[in-house]
Amino acid sequence: MESERPAAKACPDCGQSVPVDPRFVTWCAACGWNVDPGAPEAPEGRLEAVRRRLARRHGEQLFAEGADGLARKDASSVLARALALLVHAVTLGLAVAGTAVLVSGIGTFSGWALGLLLLGTAVVLRPRFGSLSTTVEEPVLHRADAPQLFGLIDEVAAVVGTRGVDAVVIEADANASVSTYGIRQRRVLRLGLGLWEVLTPRQRVALLGHELGHYANGDTRHGAIVHNALRSLSLWVYFLSPTPNPTMTERFANYLMAVPRWAVYGVLVLLDQLTLRAAQRAEYLADEAAARAASTDAAVELMDKLLVVGSVSLELRRESVAAQTKSRGAGSRDEAERGLWDRLAERIGAVPEREYERLRRVAALRGHAVDSTHPPTHLRRRRLAEAAAHPASVRPTEDATAAIDAELAGSRSRVARRVIRDYAG
Ligand SMILES: [Zn+2]
Ligand SMILES: [Zn+2]
Repeated sequence: MESERPAAKACPDCGQSVPVDPRFVTWCAACGWNVDPGAPEAPEGRLEAVRRRLARRHGEQLFAEGADGLARKDASSVLARALALLVHAVTLGLAVAGTAVLVSGIGTFSGWALGLLLLGTAVVLRPRFGSLSTTVEEPVLHRADAPQLFGLIDEVAAVVGTRGVDAVVIEADANASVSTYGIRQRRVLRLGLGLWEVLTPRQRVALLGHELGHYANGDTRHGAIVHNALRSLSLWVYFLSPTPNPTMTERFANYLMAVPRWAVYGVLVLLDQLTLRAAQRAEYLADEAAARAASTDAAVELMDKLLVVGSVSLELRRESVAAQTKSRGAGSRDEAERGLWDRLAERIGAVPEREYERLRRVAALRGHAVDSTHPPTHLRRRRLAEAAAHPASVRPTEDATAAIDAELAGSRSRVARRVIRDYAG
């Protein structure tokens, strides 16, 4: 029927007929008209802009070098590690010196004062082990809570060459990450339902493969050492920062402190820059792990999904606003919570291939990356597509997928409740 035909208009640049769908941007695939109508991202600070530029260059270089570039553990990450260990050695030195002064100067006031100052500084600068800190409302799952989910994680871990995790934290937004916590370096996977719920079973395996790949490649260990060193250095810069509105003596002290202050700041910037290339390399390698676990096709699909989930937080906010304005009654809010993740999955599932194509072009045009630790998404996608294709090693059965969904049911409703209640604000 005439009315069922999708609307179309002529491209103002080349005259090609382009489809019009009010839910998405109207653009022309033939000449590229209106591919990227969104405003360019807001400029960050100067240092962050330099970081991003450098990160992008590393990402492009690693892409150009291909498999050889990824196989080589580069000098910069070795240097970064050495520098970080040196920073921690200084902290240890302070602690040792403080103890020595306390012991040798026992009973004297100056001995106590200096010893405690040194020890106190060392305590403040000490490396921290992450903690499993969550807000009260973020569900934390352990093995007994979700044996099927942990089983799938174990299976993927075995394929990428590592062990599984000790806890899974369920969040709302469209992201996922891994880290360690506690002195025994336990492992935690953070899983955002805004991402998990819109993925197909094999894309979920690819996501797990990518995240667990970071453990297999030692990124979290490396990351913790460097991260703690960066933290110590920032504290040093803070300690050495000039006194505002100085008196005559303080002004003199400020001058004296300028040299160590800039030296420490220099080390801080250097360490940060040294880690950028390693971070990009880690992402490519994690993508490779995703392909080994879930197949190259699934890993590429995941990459495409990452482009469209940019709209998820907006969708969640819209759901929250709608539920709160529609009615103050508890009944309608319950309803909004109950169907939240299914509606989200449906909406993301309905994004047409044309919109994927547009977002891929935007990603390539902007050299867009998730953030400065990730290579541009279009390069990650091309690397996967151009490398030797992997078949799937882990194929969850329908029963397993349903069982995992059932295990997550409680978390789904808890997180949905929080989204409907808080996201409108
Ligand atoms: Zn055109
Ligand atoms: Zn990653």
